Amino acid sequence: MIRKLYPKGKEKAFNVTFDDGVLQDIRFVELLNKYNLKGTFNLNSGLMESEFEWTHKNGSIVKRLSKDKAAPLYQGHEVACHTLTHPYMDDLSEAEILYELKTDKDKLEKLFKREIKGFAVPFHYYSGLIESCVKQCGFSYARISEESRSFTLQNDFYKWKATIFHPRNSFDDIVRQFIASEEELALLQVGGHSYDLDAEDMWDSFESVFKEISSRNDILPMTTIEIIEYLQAMNQAEITGSSIKNNSDTGLWFSLDGSACEVKPNDYMIF
Ligand SMILES: [Zn+2]
Repeated sequence: MIRKLYPKGKEKAFNVTFDDGVLQDIRFVELLNKYNLKGTFNLNSGLMESEFEWTHKNGSIVKRLSKDKAAPLYQGHEVACHTLTHPYMDDLSEAEILYELKTDKDKLEKLFKREIKGFAVPFHYYSGLIESCVKQCGFSYARISEESRSFTLQNDFYKWKATIFHPRNSFDDIVRQFIASEEELALLQVGGHSYDLDAEDMWDSFESVFKEISSRNDILPMTTIEIIEYLQAMNQAEITGSSIKNNSDTGLWFSLDGSACEVKPNDYMIF
């Protein structure tokens, strides 16, 4: 029996996708780094130098990170576009949406000296027009603000949903279900904002989940773009009952009758 696996022969993947680039990301990235996990951080380059801050209803201060702080912080993690100024996009014209996306992409690429391939929608509004703008700007995926509430991989990269946002009291249960899941290429992706960990007193809960995830040998920490690009490569593979042909430049992993093996880039395997 053939079963698809993640890189390095792992059954499952884990990712966090956090928005807005706020001061609490410093503590949050330290926590990810402590457990060798990977995050995707969705940033508004136009708000980085803003002195604007607000008080969350639970009392914590929410303030954007400056460029000086952001540039070194997210090393080893994915940075994605979240629009230039975090507008409600429901009444923006196509030209205005394109400007918000393109300008943010350009500025983030300059600041972080790498290609920015991902996009996460600000607030909750998403439409066919925004999707078309995301594609025109060359993004590989758009993460929307709905939850999938599932570990099953999705096939629409431009309506990509995190498993859950702000898990709160249900976090341990979800992680337990994820660990027990038999789903092929199971993914747990947690969305949110690091200031919620202050506001909801969730730091200990996140740390215990991170500790549990990092102790599991079957779970691979990945960024969102790593997951998307791996799936794109997997989707190009030709799989029959007796062979696998890898048509991509990425090594692909499978389990054949229970043992993991890699089909090298642009290579094939007959069994
Ligand atoms: Zn946001």
